[in-house]
Amino acid sequence: MANRIIFATGNQNKMKEIREILSDCGLDVLSMKEAGIDVEVVEDGLTFEENACIKAAAIAKTAPDDIILADDSGLEIDYLNKEPGIYSARYLGEDTSYDIKNQALLYRLTGVEKERRSARFVCAIAAAVPGCGVFTTRGTIEGYIGWEMAGTNGFGYDPIFYVDAFGCSTAELTMEQKNRCSHRGNALRAMKEELIKRGILEHV
Ligand code: IMP
Repeated sequence: MANRIIFATGNQNKMKEIREILSDCGLDVLSMKEAGIDVEVVEDGLTFEENACIKAAAIAKTAPDDIILADDSGLEIDYLNKEPGIYSARYLGEDTSYDIKNQALLYRLTGVEKERRSARFVCAIAAAVPGCGVFTTRGTIEGYIGWEMAGTNGFGYDPIFYVDAFGCSTAELTMEQKNRCSHRGNALRAMKEELIKRGILEHV
């Protein structure tokens, strides 16, 4: 049985979140860097799940005895046929600032009333587990695209993504508030349940 979980990210905030959620599972949770893994993966899938699976499977090849978790996430705007979706990081070009990406999306929704501004952040988590193959879970957070950018917390599309329950954008939430209800948190909690259900993790 594997005794380590490697999470395919270099992002320290994601590592903090996953460590918190898996803190009672009794396994070491490492980043790729901490595990000494450096793999370039081409994310050429057509869904969040495909991309997460591609990442997890590629890393599993170099660490076949460990549980590998990988995520892929993005913003879906219903009025724009779920754009930018899996292309969220690459929208208008990878090097284009989020100020410009966010302004461009606000502009594309000019004159669109609130009912048609619905959007969600989506996160797929893939697990590659020795002897159990690769499987995924999904988490979302529902909201809408506001009329202006607000807030300086978070990253990416947070300043234009508003949640009714909070009455503000997710860039105006603390990290703790956001993690409690975020797409990534929800996908991670679902993955923890799945790993327990399959007998891979013990419920402590
Ligand atoms: P990643 O898969 O976590 O790297 O996210 C891909 C892209 O989706 C990011 O570069 C952001 O553009 C967007 N995204 C994902 N999650 C969030 C979030 O929580 N807030 C804002 N933008 C996000």
